[in-house]
Formats: sequence, C-alpha cells, structure tokens
Amino acid sequence: MVEHVAVLGATGSIGESTLDLIGQHPERFQATVLTAHRQVDKMVGLAQRFLPKVIVMTDGAAAQQLRDQLRQSSWAKTIEVLSGPEALVEAATAPSISMVVAGIVGAAGLPSAIAAAAAGKKILLANKEALVMAGSLFVNAAKKGQAIILPIDSEHNAIFQCLGTDYRCFKRPHGVTRLLLTASGGPFRRWDMQAIRHATVGQAIAHPNWTMGRKISVDSATMMNKGLELIEAHWLFDMPETLIDIVVHPQSVVHSMVEFADGSTLAQMGSPDMRTPIACAMRWPERMPSSVAMLDWRSVRTLEFEPPDEDRFPSLALARQTLRVGGASSAILNAANEVAVEAFLAERMAFGGIFEVVEQTLSSLSHRWAAPESLEALLALDAESRAAATAFCTQRAL
Ligand code: NAD
Ligand code: MG
Repeated sequence: MVEHVAVLGATGSIGESTLDLIGQHPERFQATVLTAHRQVDKMVGLAQRFLPKVIVMTDGAAAQQLRDQLRQSSWAKTIEVLSGPEALVEAATAPSISMVVAGIVGAAGLPSAIAAAAAGKKILLANKEALVMAGSLFVNAAKKGQAIILPIDSEHNAIFQCLGTDYRCFKRPHGVTRLLLTASGGPFRRWDMQAIRHATVGQAIAHPNWTMGRKISVDSATMMNKGLELIEAHWLFDMPETLIDIVVHPQSVVHSMVEFADGSTLAQMGSPDMRTPIACAMRWPERMPSSVAMLDWRSVRTLEFEPPDEDRFPSLALARQTLRVGGASSAILNAANEVAVEAFLAERMAFGGIFEVVEQTLSSLSHRWAAPESLEALLALDAESRAAATAFCTQRAL
C-alpha cells in the first residue's frame, strides 16, 4: 500500500533528505503534500518530480508566483497551490495523509506539528523547536489524538533505535537509567572564548560533519542545538534533566547512547547522513535501504568522547535551567534564540551576542515563566519574548 506523506519544509535540508528517500521508494511512498515558505524555483522542480496533489507556500506572494509558473505546464494541471499558515495546518491534517514529516525550521513549524499531533497522524519529528516551545501542550495534544511521534533528529532517533520495541511516545522507558546525547562540539569546539565571541557567519555555518540549514548550523556552533535537544529528549522520553548527559564526540559516528540498569550501554552508529534516521522512522518497525554509505571501520579508527565546556558554551546551562524551572521558560529561550540567531545571520550582531540576548530575555521575562494553558497563550508569549529579544539585539547592533 502506498503511504501518503506531507513533507512540511520540503525545500529545506530535512525535506531534501526525505524526498530523496521517497524518490528511492515510489512503490511505498507518495509525496502528496509539499510545503515551503518562499523558495518558488526550488518548489517548481520538486513539483515536476513528485507531482504532489497540494502545495502550500506560506508566503502569499510566493504562492501566486508559483501558480503563475505552474499554469504554463500541462503536468501541473492537477496540482492545487494554497497559501498561508491556515492552509499549512489544513494540509498537515488532511484525511488522506497518514505520515507527516515536520521539517519546518523554528517556531513557524509549531501550529502545523501540533495540529497533526491532535489529528492522530504519524509524525516524523525534525522540528525540535515545536516540542521545546510547547512541551506539555504538544505531548497532551499527541496523547489525546493518539498520534505516533517518531523522532528523526539523529540523536533522538539513535535513542529510539536503542530502545527498540520498548519505545512508547512520551513514556519513560523501562530499565533506562541515563540518556547520553552526543554532540559534535561544532566548528568552535577548540576555539577560545574571545575568538568565539567574534566568529563570522561563514565560520559559524561551516559544520565539521553535517550539512544542514543555516539556523541549526548556528545552533550547533553555539551548542544551543544540544540545549534544545536536551529539552526535546526530556519530553520525548519522559526523562528528568538530571538523567540526560551531553557528551562531546567530534567524529559524529555514535549518534547517542542509552544506559540501562543492568550496566549495558547501547549506542547507535552510522555515517552522518540524515537519510538514515528518516528511513528508519519511515518504515519503522521494518528497515529499508537508504543509499547511505555504510560505516567503514577501516576509516573510523578512533572514537573520542569528552565533557562539554559550559563556560565557553553557556547555552547548555541555560537550557538545563529552563527544564529545572519548567513552565514556559523553554519557549522564551527558544524565541530569544531564534531572534538572536537571525540578527547574527543578518550580520546585525556579533556571535557572542547570541548567548547574552538569550540569557537577558529569559531573566527579563521571569515573571512570565508559568506554563501557558493554550496554544494562543503560548503564541502570545512567543511574540512577547521576540519583542524583548529584538530590543536586546538592537542594543548590541554592530
Ligand atoms: P532549512 O532551513 O534547510 O529548511 C527549512 C524549511 O522550512 C524550508 O523548506 C522553508 O521553506 C521552511 N520554512 C522556513 N520558514 C518558514 C515559515 N515561516 N513558514 C513555513 N515554512 C517555513 O532547515 P533544516 O536544516 O531542514 O531544519 C528543519 C528542522 O529540522 C529544524 O527544526 C532543525 O532543527 C531540524 N533538524 C534538522 C537537521 C538537519 O540535518 N538539517 C537535523 C536534525 C534536526
Ligand atoms: Mg540533532
């Protein structure tokens, strides 16, 4: 039977890996819905290759441009082009869709991911920001909707694989004593604090092992990515922050580990290629070929592990702090980080400003740390945090 897939964020790095796998297995998967924000030319190419039923461009002008371009092609007659965030939610929850790949970057991916969860879809979750922001709101929506959440963030997918049939969405796995999230350490692993503060955009997005979108690449350089992943792991596996360790592992071969009560530590290894975790989740509990190069033990001669340096990378402590105080603080952290990363990428602020803006926004909104009761309240808090973070970025403008 062909599975109908909605690829949210189809033009991005996760979207590209997912569509590569769908292209390799057309007898099993059909890309029925494709969504993107603005990249019209890239979407035209994807439309021609995958012939989806529906395309959503969240940006209205981009949607109109796409309609104009597709009108000239006979193969595009059956494709419907929709626009706006509401259309994104509708497409992610359409009855014909059974699998949703949540590959939008940042908070923009939350409404569609949470709607898909409430609608009981099988969700391949890459968009960690959705879970970081919404926490228990997301978990409760998924539980109520009986959604299946399969993590495709490589670390969480590694843990999911180590758990095997014991994995239950949002339930602490039996016999597990600790989760060990591995981190490459990013491009600045060996840099001193002063050099890190003044790193350029080019240096920050040059990840040593993975090719990814710009935002997550900067998050890897600040190690906020690992902070967000710590929060993601807390919710996905129902583990307290004290039982989740971060381990710097520069080779990115071990994608994470799980420690069990009997003294076993299981690790999942593989080449650093997102098609492995995505393929694993797409066919779970079965396995399918992904075309990813097998790990060659002849070239992987050493595996190194070291503790993270929380002085040079304060994001880790900030993320832990939000889990300790709970409530909405992770949402504030996420919003501030998105704004700060955007300011850095636009060369409006120095790299070191990212840590300061996140910390300052979190403490300035400490009176707003109580858990929001609805998605609307959460989105209002997100907007308020963004406004505060924007002002702090402006104070640090270059
Ligand atoms: P990307 O920048 O390459 O792609 C982002 C996608 O989201 C694009 O299709 C873009 O059109 C869409 N998008 C951007 N803004 C939008 C908006 N306002 N509304 C609707 N759509 C919007 O990002 P990526 O690297 O593919 O990352 C996507 C998500 O997956 C992130 O949450 C990231 O943390 C997570 N993730 C990525 C990787 C990776 O290897 N790239 C690994 C693990 C987790
Ligand atoms: Mg990851």
